[in-house]
Amino acid sequence: MARNGNEERVATKERRRPKGAVVELEDVDLYDLALSLFDRAADVMNLDPTVRTILQQPKNELMVNFPVRLDDGRFRLFKGYRVQHNNLLGPYKGGIRYARFVTLNELKAMAFWMTMKNSLVGVPFGGAKGGVKLDPSQFSESELQRITRRYTHALGTNIGPDWDIPAPDLGTNAQTMVWVSDTYMNTIGYAQRFAGRGVVTGKTVASGGSLGREEATGRGVVCTIQSWAEEQKVDLRKVTFAVQGYGNVGSFASTTLADLGATLVAVQDHTGSIANPKGMDARGLQAHARSRGGIAGFAGGRSIDDAAFWATPCDVLIPAALEMQITEANAPSLRCHVIAEGANGPTAPAADAILAKKGIHVIPDILCNAGGVVVSFFEWTQNRRGESWPLEEVRGKLKRYMDAAYAQVRAVATERKIDMRTAAYVQALTRIASVYHERGIFP
Ligand code: NAD
Repeated sequence: MARNGNEERVATKERRRPKGAVVELEDVDLYDLALSLFDRAADVMNLDPTVRTILQQPKNELMVNFPVRLDDGRFRLFKGYRVQHNNLLGPYKGGIRYARFVTLNELKAMAFWMTMKNSLVGVPFGGAKGGVKLDPSQFSESELQRITRRYTHALGTNIGPDWDIPAPDLGTNAQTMVWVSDTYMNTIGYAQRFAGRGVVTGKTVASGGSLGREEATGRGVVCTIQSWAEEQKVDLRKVTFAVQGYGNVGSFASTTLADLGATLVAVQDHTGSIANPKGMDARGLQAHARSRGGIAGFAGGRSIDDAAFWATPCDVLIPAALEMQITEANAPSLRCHVIAEGANGPTAPAADAILAKKGIHVIPDILCNAGGVVVSFFEWTQNRRGESWPLEEVRGKLKRYMDAAYAQVRAVATERKIDMRTAAYVQALTRIASVYHERGIFP
């Protein structure tokens, strides 16, 4: 598939201009970034050249164009994608995003990161990512339902509970997944109908979702912050934190961290930035953002500009919105001790070097935000077994997966004297390379 040159450049500009931003952010092609991180790890571990070549490109790239009737009776054509990077370790797995800047190259990067993430945390999945190019805030609930159902229909048998299992991501949620699941179940025939609901994870609990899935990515982020705090002998009850993005990942990371006694001092989303050095009510802000569509107007904090948000003094900074948010331009102003990457690819490579010089620790995305796919694996397993696990069981298992993954990455980083980001890739690639080595390349 061609790279869509102009379309990609326009989309990149749109994404990199958060509301209120005072800096022109760095222009990075996400797939180039993903490959550069991959190359760095592959060089460190001397990765088998054949495995390296295979992993450099996704196995399948699907683009679909489909018409949907809008509420006013007009029809509009939408563009959807599904990129399947690798299925060596199990069925393809990865989210579906609805955003106006979605591009093929971005999804190729995300699908690659899912392959790495799933291998790293040890769930039996490969990597994929999908999306539809649209701004969900511009469409009604019934339009979003029709778009989702047509997109699912267009994907056809390219998804399935044993083949490729989507989940929520930016701009999609449990309701979106229920529409995907219902559409799929109604198109595969009666015999497999109920097995078909496992085609997606992140569904509502009533429609076959797992308890604890909605909060899982944010909770997983906090598990990694707990591991960092234990290592650094930091008491989380004395910690302050700032969050960019107060959707699924950012808000649940905040409520979970606040429950451990930490203080939320600054938040930014697409509606602006707010701060309060004395602390803000994370749960109250979650309810406010859900009902108002953003954090703007929350009484517990005062409005600040973009530059002040990034310069907020805090212990923990959680980017949980978009890619490429911490850049050469704003990294020098950061005043945190650790960055926990809730979003995928939130840190530009040039910023990484600045953070290292400043002594700011980074818990890399493929480790930090893996909690969502871990509980997706639990949901998929429960669907297959016809079970429903109690919340405390899900939370306990999630913590064990996250703790084990963090410990493994730390061990690799220490042993090889490399940063945590490269170590996470080395750990993920080691598992994949050994399976390729044992199974060989077909035929
Ligand atoms: P979401 O749609 O629920 O929330 C996105 C948040 O980002 C919103 O608060 C929105 O206001 C904010 N935002 C959007 N544009 C912004 C801008 N220009 N400046 C500042 N804030 C902006 O999405 P989500 O599911 O929470 O995903 C957030 C990130 O986490 C994405 O990078 C996604 O890929 C990643 N992620 C999500 C999951 C998951 O389970 N949902 C799992 C792993 C990683």
